[in-house]
Amino acid sequence: MDTMQNPLLDSEAIRQAKIELAATCRWASRLGFQSGVCNHFSVAVPGRPDLMLINPEGYFWSEVTVSSLVLATHDGTIISTNGHTVELTAFCIHAPIHRILPQATAALHTHMHHATAICTRKEGRIAHTYLSGMSFYNSIAYDDGFNGAAVTPAEGERLAGVIGKATVLMMMNHGPLVIGSTLGEALLRLIYLEDTCKIQLLAEAGGAELKHIPPAIVATYPDDSPMFKAYGRTFMKAIIRKLTREEPDFLS
Ligand SMILES: [Zn+2]
Repeated sequence: MDTMQNPLLDSEAIRQAKIELAATCRWASRLGFQSGVCNHFSVAVPGRPDLMLINPEGYFWSEVTVSSLVLATHDGTIISTNGHTVELTAFCIHAPIHRILPQATAALHTHMHHATAICTRKEGRIAHTYLSGMSFYNSIAYDDGFNGAAVTPAEGERLAGVIGKATVLMMMNHGPLVIGSTLGEALLRLIYLEDTCKIQLLAEAGGAELKHIPPAIVATYPDDSPMFKAYGRTFMKAIIRKLTREEPDFLS
């Protein structure tokens, strides 16, 4: 495949997507969201939704650089020439989600502890109790059909079906996955999700009754609001600005 010579793939838009994906990995690492060298973040290639960028197999998020990211098709063909590979379950989860859900420009999956703790509860559900969760309270899908590790594309296709129009997927006995129209938006959603789950667990730990936000108030915070999308863009700019100063090698 000669796509590495395709001018489209050398565009400034793709360079920016790589910078944002590497920055997303670095920032999530700072937050302690990674488990070992597992868990994956991916983004659809601007102008080429049939392709995705994803973090390389076997590397900590704290090591990810622009040039180490893997460019691949949805059927698992690796196009990038940097020698890196993609872990099997990453393909099986992320590729079908990008292929089936056009709104999933970005897909972030972690086993971050507090959101995953909710996923390990019987009928684990996120309580509608905290301001920062209001942006996604009406956009959460729950997958109660745990099938073990995702080692076939069919499992990713099933998960995409469960997500539907949601932006947060809580995979029972596994962990969360969020999607977004940009990496900044998705990462902000991921952070708010972890905060919300942590606060819920802390609040429940003492046995106190939770104070639920009325549905009418929750409804005033749609998940796809221009304000939230703007937050995502501002957040990504801030991350890149700080990483450029403190970890400039991520740009290499
Ligand atoms: Zn996982």
